[in-house]
Amino acid sequence: MRHLLLSGAALIALAACGAPEPGNGTAGGTEQAATETAAAEPRFGTFGFDTAGMNAEIAPGDDFNRYANGGWLASTEIPADRSSYGMFTLLSLEAEDQVEAIITEAQAAAGEPGSNTQLVGDLYQSWMNADAIEAAGLEPVRPFLEEIAAIETLADAAALFNSVHHQSPYGFAVWADPANPDVNALRLFQGGLGMPNRDYYLSEDARFVEYRDAYRDYIVTIHELAGIEDAEAKADAILALETRIAEAHWTRERSREVTETYNPMSVADLAALAPSFHFEEGMDALGLDVEEVIVIQPSAIEATSQIFAETDIATIRDYMAFHFINDRTDWLPSAFDEASFDFFGRTLRGQEEQRPRNKRGVNLVGGALGHAVGQIYVERHFPPSSKAQMEGLVDNLITAFRGRLETLEWMDEETRTEALEKLSTFEPRIGYPEIWDEYDGLEISADDYFGNRIRMAEWAWNEQLEDLAEPVDPREWSWPPQIVNASYNPLQNQITFPAGILQAPFFDPDADPAINYGAIGAVIGHEIGHGFDDQGRRYDAEGRLRDWWTAETNERFIERSDGLVAQYNEFCPFEELCVNGRLALGENIGDLGGMQMAYTAYRNYVEANYEGGEAPVIDGFTGDQRFFLAWAQVWRIMYRDDALRAQLVNGPHSPGMYRINGVVRNIDAWYDAFGVTEEHALYIAPEDRVSIW
Ligand SMILES: [Zn+2]
Repeated sequence: MRHLLLSGAALIALAACGAPEPGNGTAGGTEQAATETAAAEPRFGTFGFDTAGMNAEIAPGDDFNRYANGGWLASTEIPADRSSYGMFTLLSLEAEDQVEAIITEAQAAAGEPGSNTQLVGDLYQSWMNADAIEAAGLEPVRPFLEEIAAIETLADAAALFNSVHHQSPYGFAVWADPANPDVNALRLFQGGLGMPNRDYYLSEDARFVEYRDAYRDYIVTIHELAGIEDAEAKADAILALETRIAEAHWTRERSREVTETYNPMSVADLAALAPSFHFEEGMDALGLDVEEVIVIQPSAIEATSQIFAETDIATIRDYMAFHFINDRTDWLPSAFDEASFDFFGRTLRGQEEQRPRNKRGVNLVGGALGHAVGQIYVERHFPPSSKAQMEGLVDNLITAFRGRLETLEWMDEETRTEALEKLSTFEPRIGYPEIWDEYDGLEISADDYFGNRIRMAEWAWNEQLEDLAEPVDPREWSWPPQIVNASYNPLQNQITFPAGILQAPFFDPDADPAINYGAIGAVIGHEIGHGFDDQGRRYDAEGRLRDWWTAETNERFIERSDGLVAQYNEFCPFEELCVNGRLALGENIGDLGGMQMAYTAYRNYVEANYEGGEAPVIDGFTGDQRFFLAWAQVWRIMYRDDALRAQLVNGPHSPGMYRINGVVRNIDAWYDAFGVTEEHALYIAPEDRVSIW
C-alpha cells in the first residue's frame, strides 16, 4: 500500500520541496560558501546581493524579477539533469556534496551492525551496487506478483490494499488530531493514481493530453519489460480505471480546506461508506487499533469504493501488478529505471538527463536516514553563532508583527485578542532538533537493495503504529537539518528553520542587514504568516481547529484574501494555464504578510541603529531598495516548461517570478523605493493593493 509515511505531514513548507525531482542534481554551483575563508565578505556581491545578475534596462515597476535577476536569467542554463534551477537548487546541491562526504565516510568506516554508520554506509553501498540489482532481475518481485495473481474476489484485492507493500486506492497517515493536538490520530486520504494528480487525467490542455498518451505508452513499456502479455489492452484498462478514480478525487484546492477535510468517522461508519475496501478487517491486519479515523476526502473514498465494485477483477489485478512495479522501478534492472525516468522526469518535468547514480544514492540515504547524517552535518556545517543571530531575527519579526496586529484597522478587538494570544505561543525551532530520530530495529544489508527497501517500508509503517499509540512529541522534526526549506506546523504552532536554509543568500552574517531582513526575515515572516493564512487562521493558540473569528472580521479577511486570489489568477505563463490563486492563497498570504512583517522589522532596525533613522546608500542602492532586492534574489529561478506546468497544477506555491512580482506590487514602500507609477506594468492603484497582515 502506498501509505503516506510522513509523521509531520501537517507541516506547510516554504518551497515546493514536496514533489522531489527524480533524483537531484550535481551540476551547477558547487562553489563553497565564502564565510570560512573570508569572514567579512558576503557571499554575493559587495553587500549580499548579486548586482551583476541584474538587468538595469528593465524598469523595476515593469518586471521587478527581470530587473533584479535579468542578467542571471540571460546567462544561466538549467543543468541537463535538472528541471528547474535557482537559489534553492544551488544550496541543495552544496548540502548534497556535504552529505555525500558523510555517507561515503560511513561506507568506508564499516560501523558496528545496527549503528548509524553501518545503516548509512550499507544502504548506500547496496544502492551503488547496480550490478547486483541488475543480476537479481525481476526475481525479488515475483512473490508479490504471485500474491496479486491469486486475487479472485474484491475481498482478496482489499486484503492487499490493506497491507504494507501493495498499491492501494487510498493511504493512511498518522499525525496530531486537530481536535486535541496533544494526541496522534489516523488520517485516511484519497489515492490510487499513477500521475501526480487528477488534472493530469482530466485537463483538456493540449500538453496534458500528450501526458496521458505518454503515460499509456509508459504502462505498455513496463508490461513489456516485465514480460506481461496483452500490454496494449491492459494499459487502456488501467488508464480508464485511473481516470475514473481521478474524476472522484477532490481538487488540490478543496483538499487543503481544513474544515472540509476534518471528518472524524468511526471505523464501522467508514466500512459502510466504502464497503469494497473491507476496512474493519483491513485495519486489524495493518495493526491499526483505533476507533476513529479522520477521513480527509469522504466522497472520494466512497466513490472510489463504488468504482472498484464495478471494475472486473482482471483489471484490478493488472492495475495492482503495474503499480507494484511502477513504485519500485529504481529497485529493479536499469531498463525499468530508465523507462520511469523517461516518463516522470523527461516528459512530465522536462528534465533532459537522469541524475548521476551516486547523487541519487545520497538523496535516498539522506532522506531515509536523514537524522543519522544530519547530526554530523550540523556539527560540521552549522556554526552556533548562526543560531544565536537567527533567534534575534525571529524575535524582531515577532515584535514587528505584534505591533502590526495591535493596530490592524480591519480586525475587531475580540478577534485581535485571540490573534495576539496565538502569536504569543509561536515556537521557533532553529537549525536542528533537540532529539534525533533513531533507527533501532532497522536491518540494512550491503548487498540486498530490494530487501532493504522492503524492510525500510515495514520499519517505517511500524514507526507510524508506535506514534499512533503515543502522545505527540513536540520535539520531533519531520525533516533532517540539511534540508533547504522552512516550515510551519499549525497543530503545534511551530516555525522550523533547518540549518540548510540558514545560508546565503537567505541568511548571511556578513551581508548588509537590509539583505537579511528582505531574505530570511521575510522567510521567517512567511512561516509566521502561515499561522494566519486562509487555513492556518482556523487553528487557535493551542493548535486546535476552532473558529475564533467574529463574523464581521471573518468577512473582512475573506474580502481581502479574495483580492489576492484574483491578482494571482492573472499570472499566466501559458496561454491556457495560469496560477491557481485559490490553491496558492495560503502561500501568497504567507509571502505578502511575511514581507510586510519583515519590512516593519527592518524599519525598526534602521530607526534603532542608524543616525537620523536613515540607512546608508550602498553601491547606489538605498536600504529599502536593498531590502526588496533581497526578496527577489532568494526567489530567482528558471523552469523548464513542463516543470512550470507541474508547479502550476500541483501547487500550492506560485512559481518564483510571481512570488517576487506578486508581493512587491502590494507594498507601498516598494513604489516609493523604486519610483513606480501608473505608467508601469506592475502598478496597482493604492485602493486595490491588498494588505492583510
Ligand atoms: Zn509556505
